[in-house]
Amino acid sequence: MPDGDILIGGDWKQTSDGQTLPVFNPSDGSEFAKIARGNARDIDAAVKAARKAMDGAWGRMPAAERGRLLSKLALKVAEHAEELAVLECKDTGKPLAQGKADATALSRYFEFYGGAADKVHGDTIPYQHGYTVMTLREPHGVCGQIIPWNYPMQIFGRSACGALAMGNAIVVKPAEEACLSILRVGQLMLEVGFPAGAVNIVPGLGHEAGAALSDHPGIDHMSFTGSRQVGTLVQAAAAKFNRPVTMELGGKSPQVVFADADMDAALPFITRAIIQNAGQTCSAGSRLLVEDRVYDEFVGRVAEKFKALRAGPWDRDLDIGPLISKKQKERVEKFIGDAGKDGIKLVASGEVAANAPSGGYYVPPQIFGDVPATHILAQEEVFGPVLAATRFKNEEDAVRIANATPYGLVAGIWTRDGGKQMRMARAVKAGQVFINNYGAGGGIELPFGGFKGSGFGREKGFAALFEFSAIKTVAINHG
Ligand code: NAD
Repeated sequence: MPDGDILIGGDWKQTSDGQTLPVFNPSDGSEFAKIARGNARDIDAAVKAARKAMDGAWGRMPAAERGRLLSKLALKVAEHAEELAVLECKDTGKPLAQGKADATALSRYFEFYGGAADKVHGDTIPYQHGYTVMTLREPHGVCGQIIPWNYPMQIFGRSACGALAMGNAIVVKPAEEACLSILRVGQLMLEVGFPAGAVNIVPGLGHEAGAALSDHPGIDHMSFTGSRQVGTLVQAAAAKFNRPVTMELGGKSPQVVFADADMDAALPFITRAIIQNAGQTCSAGSRLLVEDRVYDEFVGRVAEKFKALRAGPWDRDLDIGPLISKKQKERVEKFIGDAGKDGIKLVASGEVAANAPSGGYYVPPQIFGDVPATHILAQEEVFGPVLAATRFKNEEDAVRIANATPYGLVAGIWTRDGGKQMRMARAVKAGQVFINNYGAGGGIELPFGGFKGSGFGREKGFAALFEFSAIKTVAINHG
């Protein structure tokens, strides 16, 4: 995989016009690699290669064999975990421990779906006398997959595994900001024997390669992970072809802390849920809702934690790394600056570590207090290490505030009261609800996806296998 290539039909090649894009190291701002700047012609070639794979060896491969390939890949990724982690960290800036966790998760994706590939089957349905009716689970065909930069490996694994396990061929458009790990995994996929065209990877700019993919008539299913704004464009393009889509969009997920909560247990989860990946996590716990009676005490304890947090380059493996780009840093700093102008109180801030490279895109973790639930800081996704704390009076008030954003991805509920736990789990509109714990995104086994503006459709778990396949009903009249 020389710098700047794309993977089409089992071969690494240059884009049709030879264009590339620079890759920057967010930890110091230096340029250190090149990726391809794929265009509409490259996307077209990738879609044709995927179709050929569906009509050929890949389309005819038994489910157990597909599973075996995914399982082999899981082992291969585990063998290369350290290398993949370092590549991901240089590319995204995330601390090494996070990069290692992401590589482990990627291997686990392939392991889980390798085992699941031959476990999904149709049913027979009791119908009229003289009939046998069955359902078949069929792949959609060629799946387009647009991936963001925040967890390139993991989100590639998340989207690719369900699709491949069900026998679809994929055309992947990773993010222009970070995708080196995905390209490396593409190489490993060829090494373990994925047939030509089953997996095609074309990096490039969103409005070029991304738009060409979402607008391509040869795509049978589209999965998109990214912002609400671009998700709307991808849906509009899909509507022209009446094509099914899976939308994994943003979040403004609440952590709801009741007065009876085990505060010692909650504290590390709440801090981690917003600083993980420098807050650039769709499922970040970016709102802290605390019952009035314990608000001052609990927010005070979170503030103490925040003061001790340090941001620095990926290889120092501190609490957080830099943001992905200069543009993202400026965006986050604008949210922070505007909050200050609106009189929102900064309760505590961490620091950028002494001698962190001056060209890096660092923003220290910060917590703002008494943020009105309607303020933009409590409504919109900052996608940075910024926590907005808000008071609530009682359970009803907590539900109202928790649900009062355009999003509905994840929620954390902290209480010892079993009744309250169940009532809250049912009342909060979120695709995942964690009670007395919080897993940003959760394990591979757990279905993941949004309500409301956070999107629709589910990836992860067995749910992804249903998402990436369709039911065909066959009714036989045999008399
Ligand atoms: P983005 O929407 O700008 O980009 C995501 C992808 O879409 C990139 O590959 C980009 O190149 C592509 N793209 C951009 N313009 C396009 C266009 N016109 N047509 C087709 N593709 C286009 O998002 P981002 O800034 O990269 O990522 C951050 C956002 O992603 C946040 O909102 C975050 O919450 C969300 N996200 C969601 C999940 C989830 O699972 N729900 C996971 C990670 C990130």
